[in-house]
Amino acid sequence: MTSPLPSLDFLLRTPTAAVLLARFGRTATIAALRGILADRREARRFNAPAEDILDEAADVLAASFGRSQKPVFNLTGTVLHTNLGRSPMPPEAAEAAAEAMRSPTNLEFDLRTGRRGERDDHIAPLICRLTGAEAATVVNNNAAAVMLVLNTLALGKKVPVSRGELIEIGGAFRVPDIMSRAGAILHEVGTTNRTHPRDYVQAIGPDTAALMRVHQANYAIEGFTASVPTDALARIAHDAGLPLIEDLGSGSLVDLARWDLPHEPTPSEALAAGADVVTFSGDKLLGGPQAGLIVGNKTVIARINANPLKRALRLDKGRIAALEVVLRLYLDPDRLAATLPALRLLTRPAADIEATAQRMAALLQRAFPDRPVAVEPCRSQIGSGALPVDLLPSAAVTLGGGALESLAATLRSMPRPVVGRIARDRIWLDCRCLEPREEADFAAQLHAAS
Ligand SMILES: *Cc1c(COP(=O)(O)O)cnc(C)c1O
Repeated sequence: MTSPLPSLDFLLRTPTAAVLLARFGRTATIAALRGILADRREARRFNAPAEDILDEAADVLAASFGRSQKPVFNLTGTVLHTNLGRSPMPPEAAEAAAEAMRSPTNLEFDLRTGRRGERDDHIAPLICRLTGAEAATVVNNNAAAVMLVLNTLALGKKVPVSRGELIEIGGAFRVPDIMSRAGAILHEVGTTNRTHPRDYVQAIGPDTAALMRVHQANYAIEGFTASVPTDALARIAHDAGLPLIEDLGSGSLVDLARWDLPHEPTPSEALAAGADVVTFSGDKLLGGPQAGLIVGNKTVIARINANPLKRALRLDKGRIAALEVVLRLYLDPDRLAATLPALRLLTRPAADIEATAQRMAALLQRAFPDRPVAVEPCRSQIGSGALPVDLLPSAAVTLGGGALESLAATLRSMPRPVVGRIARDRIWLDCRCLEPREEADFAAQLHAAS
């Protein structure tokens, strides 16, 4: 029954192998063929036509040379979706990043004097202008910002934090853990729902380094509650000769109420209320690349920049380039809702979204003729811990019928994967993030599939 497997040499001389060799190179092609031959020998599947083996090799090679990270359609209804890479960036910011990564730049080189420069100088003045801060710096993300601030100001010392603010934000960011890894000692004050000024006053002792306030991201404490606002907490800190650290999380550089979105605290407000150092993310409401922005007075920022950890947490030139472009968009706030994709998506009119949903429903019905397809109102979330209780009116295409998990897997396996969510026995594809260009790509992909 058993015929010998074709030899590697024989396979390599076939025209199909020539195509694979030209596309993937000798090393990978031979490794793929060897692997398949070894598997077949081990499974005692000897009578395989050469073409089968070559087909399998083509699949293996395509998979190992294909990109793992790729663009997806975010139809989850969460605009700043952490697992999907948070904020989309303006194309000109992405281009600036790509250009900076392709070529040498004046990253740390002063073109005027021809001497060494500072990478922060490309963005710190802009951040100061937009927040009213005296000084600013940037690191890898907001978790790094919090860590660096605590490590600089409170190494081996106590930092009182309200029990209502000891938050966990998806993944591994837990305030108590970050504090201990930063070398600061968490001093819990107050209770989960109520913390009073006297709780902080009583907590302050000779080994207290700073007070800290953490924005209640991704949750809300309602009912019988009390917390100490920034201005009151700053007075308590300053009376004791201590700095106040405020972690805003998302933070927004502009007042979102201007676009009828719920107000999110801004770094300028925190600074004006007396916070000495404020941290926030670059890729949440700010709408830029992953980054952690730190603003504060000159003395604090100088100490932070002198911390050796700063070097370990700093930004690369690509993200600095992108962040610079995004920050400049804020110099023209009147046009921000058009120029900044994150804000444009958050302020997209419900009627617009519904029109997109109607067009997509027709296409989806054609692609999945056996399933009930409908357009239904839904609510989008801002995401990334911003304003968790406020939901934006939106519209979704919903698909019903059986085997929803398998339908969701089919959608995820498309060339540009489609990510929705399953709720109430339907798949929901929230069309908020399907703007005209994306809509055209989505439609083309559906055409190709059906
Ligand atoms: C999101 C968030 C962080 C973490 O920020 P990253 O940019 O994800 O590192 C820290 N604190 C608060 C309050 C947050 O909302």
